[in-house]
Amino acid sequence: MPTILLTNDDGIAAPGLRALAAALQGLGDIYVSAPDRERSASAQSITLLDPVFYEQVAEREWAVAGTPTDAVILALNRLLPGPPDLVLSGINHGGNLGENVYYSGTAAAAMEGTINGHSACAISMVGRRTDPDFSGAAALARSLAEFALAEGLPQGVMLNVNVPAQWNGDVHFTRQSKKITRNYLQDGVDPRGRKFVWLSEQKRITDVEPDTDYAAVFAGAASITPLALDRTHTQSLNHLSHWAQRLRRP
Ligand code: MN
Repeated sequence: MPTILLTNDDGIAAPGLRALAAALQGLGDIYVSAPDRERSASAQSITLLDPVFYEQVAEREWAVAGTPTDAVILALNRLLPGPPDLVLSGINHGGNLGENVYYSGTAAAAMEGTINGHSACAISMVGRRTDPDFSGAAALARSLAEFALAEGLPQGVMLNVNVPAQWNGDVHFTRQSKKITRNYLQDGVDPRGRKFVWLSEQKRITDVEPDTDYAAVFAGAASITPLALDRTHTQSLNHLSHWAQRLRRP
């Protein structure tokens, strides 16, 4: 049986993680290592200045008092009996689309799997309804996991999967879109008179480039974006390398 590691950034009790675990039943030995509470928007952060406490909460399940990436590091180095055949992160409650992937704890946790040489996918359900329906995303995650286990993924590439709440059944392989949201700050004052802002996001534009992740989900399709671990922009490398001559110190 293959070993499958599940994690997320919504916390170990999140319904999206439970839906993912249920959908994968029978496909392998399922292990869960996930933050003990919601740690959305953690990106790839790790905890260095505090201990990372962890606790077994069920058979093959551990709650980690750290970031999603902490939870994956712990799983790979302490909790799993061997290297996983697949790392799945999600199902996130809310999309991880366009350049917002850079803030995502869901995507980062999968990327930590990729960094360590394992096949990995991040799975998100697009929609912020209070009673989310993860069934479509869970079904796609199951099929995708079967593919990934059978065929593997290219080295250094993870799949960022976004499934609309009202999925029409189509699947598009897409590019990462530009950021189409803007920061939305609400101002306030706490009971001690200290000023604060509360950060959130607002959709800025609805016309998006075709063949991007946003275009797919706006059309009702699931989006799968292969993301490279190596962020080097090779064109710029060629274009800018002549600077080196002039930047050199005699
Ligand atoms: Mn989240």
